[in-house]
Amino acid sequence: MQKSNVILPSQTIGIIGGGQLGRMMAIAAKYMGYQVVVLDPTPNCPTAQVADQQITAAYADLEAIKALTAESDVVTYEFENVDLEAAALIEAEGKLPQGAEPLAVTQNREKEKQLMKRLGLPVSPFVIVHNGSECREALNDISFPSVIKTCRGGYDGKGQLKLAGPEDREAAIAFAEANGHCIIESWVTFDKEVSVVFTRSQTGDIQFFPLAENEHRDHILHQTTAPASVSKRVEEKIQACAKQIGDALNIVGTFTIELFVSGEDIYVNEMAPRPHNSGHYTIEACNISQFGQHIRAICGLPLMDIKLLQPAIMLNILGDTLETAKKVLADHTFGHVHLYGKEEAKPKRKMGHVTFVANTIDEIKQQQDILKEDI
Ligand code: AMP
Repeated sequence: MQKSNVILPSQTIGIIGGGQLGRMMAIAAKYMGYQVVVLDPTPNCPTAQVADQQITAAYADLEAIKALTAESDVVTYEFENVDLEAAALIEAEGKLPQGAEPLAVTQNREKEKQLMKRLGLPVSPFVIVHNGSECREALNDISFPSVIKTCRGGYDGKGQLKLAGPEDREAAIAFAEANGHCIIESWVTFDKEVSVVFTRSQTGDIQFFPLAENEHRDHILHQTTAPASVSKRVEEKIQACAKQIGDALNIVGTFTIELFVSGEDIYVNEMAPRPHNSGHYTIEACNISQFGQHIRAICGLPLMDIKLLQPAIMLNILGDTLETAKKVLADHTFGHVHLYGKEEAKPKRKMGHVTFVANTIDEIKQQQDILKEDI
């Protein structure tokens, strides 16, 4: 007899959100033989192009959520800002193994940091403020440099302001007055930014992908190198943090934690309850991708043991670099180009990515050097 929570191919997976992460989840699911239905307001969105069906409606449209739930045997999400009422509705139907709780925590930087603190994880000192006058007060106790961030809705560096020194006090106060609920954190002088992407099964098994080292440009992920060059001890500390968070939130599916590394010290920065841009390299570099493992987890299947087949470097393709990426695809025999099928190429918009794999990171850098002559 099949266990009741096991969803097998030809059954249907519903995805809330039709961007690139949903698309890559859908591709992994289609490889395995699942049916896919996506909910997204934009007709022919990136995920709809590879799914069986699209429900074209706003994410928070509860009638559409009910229709998605009725069509699906299991539902997942590709972003954290899912309407909590909608998530609760799907959970009540027993079709949201990831649960609503990880959403509630990761939608809110205060809840996220309080959870980390409660678990005793290393975080940069922070204070929470709700308006300009609380911010004025708080700045007496926090050292510069620091950064003020909105507790909700920020991504890719939007909704945050670096505070270099006391000269930025008034700008911080104005920021808090305009945005309300904010967090002010001490600035961490780090050697590296890394992320740990892992998948947790419905029975609590955790599988870690190799640690990724990330370089941002203009607050947007530019390049990921895997495996990250950190000591075994740092890697173990990071995996221990991830396990604590995974168990505390009873995570199911692929989950990501971003951290700063300074010497042998680590600081947990933020987390995402889903596959992540810094895990795209797993598609070519590992025996199973972050998306394939996610589908296994939400469908109640046992997770695969993860193996790194080759080191990798992933570069994001933004609206600005789309034409160059197409040229790379046409002119070279290396670099796995993924384009997401977005209609409009705006500057800074993520249009795709390219992953280079080889026997060593040095070999990959040689490939990149050849490309640079073209760029
Ligand atoms: P976040 O949205 O929190 O991921 O912040 C975006 C980027 O800003 C991070 O990837 C870091 O490069 C930088 N950043 C954010 N918070 C801090 C911090 N407390 N110390 C140093 N750098 C930070």
